[in-house]
Amino acid sequence: MKCDCGEYTVIDNRCKHHFVADFETKVRKTIEDNNLIKSGEKIAVACSGGKDSLTVLTILKKLYGEVTAVAIDEGIADYREHTLVDLKKVCDEQKIPLIIKSFKDFSGHTLDQALKKKDFHPCGLCGAFRKHLLLLATKDFDVVATGHNMDDEAQSVLMNLCKGNTEVLWRTGPVSGAGAKGFVKRVKPLYFCTEKEVMTYAYLNGLTTKFTECPNIHGAYRDILRNALNDYEKDHRGAKRQIVDKFLKMKGKKNFEKTDINSCNNCGEPCSQDICKACQYLEALQ
Ligand code: SF4
Ligand code: ZN
Repeated sequence: MKCDCGEYTVIDNRCKHHFVADFETKVRKTIEDNNLIKSGEKIAVACSGGKDSLTVLTILKKLYGEVTAVAIDEGIADYREHTLVDLKKVCDEQKIPLIIKSFKDFSGHTLDQALKKKDFHPCGLCGAFRKHLLLLATKDFDVVATGHNMDDEAQSVLMNLCKGNTEVLWRTGPVSGAGAKGFVKRVKPLYFCTEKEVMTYAYLNGLTTKFTECPNIHGAYRDILRNALNDYEKDHRGAKRQIVDKFLKMKGKKNFEKTDINSCNNCGEPCSQDICKACQYLEALQ
């Protein structure tokens, strides 16, 4: 099959050149239409080194010139060390400063070590430490961009609905945390890009060739929903887009950010209880 320009197609009737140009335009429009990043803002990009974060890092570097990559090394053997190699390579090639914080330095344990010591749910501990370290590492920035794509977001809408986490549900979207005490604004420039499109962009731009996954994802609630949604999308093309569009329509322009945020009695960081989740896990690991 050939693109309108006569070149062979790589995805959705478009050649490499036109796919890449259209993808970058879509990301730029998402940023502009949703007012994600204002000119002059100091930008951090939360990077795992996977396809999504390398894609958003590369595009924001092209659009804004100055960005800083921030990575959290959880210490997951045979997974994170590989994605960090890809991240360091991209940062070197594009001259992007890179900050890495690790679970080991923070808690004395890698995630793997902590899970051997205590019977924690991997994603519970991982999410709490990662959120905490990212918060500490990005305090001097105006905005933190993440690589969440449309598949991730459709899954999150369904997950929060199924679990009855409506408070969390309404706070999600292309932008969150703006104006909430103790938080830096978080934005998702790939919000309307499918996982397949992001994978294609990352591959065509030589950002990564291996699409690895965390070994702890299998059997997790998100994984189950992701598989179900992928199956549903096969017979109902556009279902994921419908989910995020309908969700955004229902949410409208209302601001659901929390105003009654506590400070952790231990570390002083924002939290919803007296002691934040990261401090609770730290204590349990002693
Ligand atoms: Fe962490 Fe779970 Fe994600 Fe793995 S799947 S990186 S353990 S949150
Ligand atoms: Zn704390």
